[in-house]
Amino acid sequence: MTTHRITLIPGDGIGPEITTAMQSVLEAAGVDISWEKAEAGAHLMERLGTPLPEATIDSIRANKVAIKGPVTTPVGSGFRSVNVQLRKELDLFVNLRPAFSLPGTGARYEDIDLVIVRENTEDLYAGIEFEEGSLEAAGLIAYCEESGAGRIRPDSGISLKPISVTGSRRIVSWACEYALANGRTKVTAVHKANILKYSDGLFLRVAREVGEGYAGRLQFEDRIVDACCMGLVMRPEEFDVLVLPNLYGDIISDLCAGMVGGLGIAPGANIGEEYAVFEPVHGSAPKYAGKNVANPTAELLSAVLMLRHLGEAEAADRILTAIRQVLNEGTAVTYDIRRANTGSTDGSVGTTEYSNAVIAHL
Ligand code: NAP
Repeated sequence: MTTHRITLIPGDGIGPEITTAMQSVLEAAGVDISWEKAEAGAHLMERLGTPLPEATIDSIRANKVAIKGPVTTPVGSGFRSVNVQLRKELDLFVNLRPAFSLPGTGARYEDIDLVIVRENTEDLYAGIEFEEGSLEAAGLIAYCEESGAGRIRPDSGISLKPISVTGSRRIVSWACEYALANGRTKVTAVHKANILKYSDGLFLRVAREVGEGYAGRLQFEDRIVDACCMGLVMRPEEFDVLVLPNLYGDIISDLCAGMVGGLGIAPGANIGEEYAVFEPVHGSAPKYAGKNVANPTAELLSAVLMLRHLGEAEAADRILTAIRQVLNEGTAVTYDIRRANTGSTDGSVGTTEYSNAVIAHL
């Protein structure tokens, strides 16, 4: 049996509880993992002066694969999100967010099976911004006016939206390869190329070129982002794999998470050529920290994605089946699932009790 050496980043808030629950399920499933614990989180600021120590990045570089809990990003404190830093440092250009129906979640939709492939490094999230009133913003505003590009009000803040041929080609190619490898039949590229001709227009042009290379193997189509949102809500069965620039990917993946029952059950992965970091979509939910109430399903499903990435498909399937059974029975579920089904949290169980129920079904 192969021993997988994995970097484990518990994070903060509810992170330590849900990652402990995840570890116990993977161990009970018999997967041979040697965990290397690494730190990240707001709580490190005082001691280390950074929420993301170099040792944590080094550990991921050495092990290639990491799984993490959420990390708090205090609003206005001046330090950059740990997740954004990790994506940049390790060039994790894919944000993979599957959204599929599970029984017993009280979700508004049934039979959803979508995969969102979000570009993770470009677009409005590139972090290139000019503050209102700054010299740089004034210079850019003057340049736009002088060059005839257009007038910008002098009291504007400005964020740039770079979208490259390289970035677009690699994300759309990745989405198509993922679709083929996972028995999917259709890829939809999402954009606003009718308005944003040079950024989204480029993304669409490159996406179509890449899509042509898969003719006969995959159906390839494109949709304008606003129409796509309506289509997802009205006729989700028309979609399969969606590939999107960063901002639309962020928004649409949460929309799809909402369709299948919310953040407590939405898994994710950040993937690059060399490294992969698995994590739930949700944040650190500080108000529930240390209370043994958070739902660890999103963390567990992120681990299921990780196991598939590691070639441990049998264990992944077994864990997914156990989760389905526990949710379907509905007797040992966390407060959020109980509330979605009955309107009250009465009768819910804690994080540990739920993960023990999953273990009992393995
Ligand atoms: P959040 O932590 O995701 O929590 C928002 C709400 O979602 C919770 O109050 C809870 O709703 C529900 N929820 C989230 N996770 C849950 C779970 N495991 N089980 C049950 N319910 C869950 O979002 P936030 O409050 O906006 O963000 C808190 C911090 O997390 C921020 O500092 C943010 O920057 C950070 N964050 C980190 C990551 C990451 O590390 N990947 C991602 C997103 C946000 P109810 O109270 O209604 O039940």
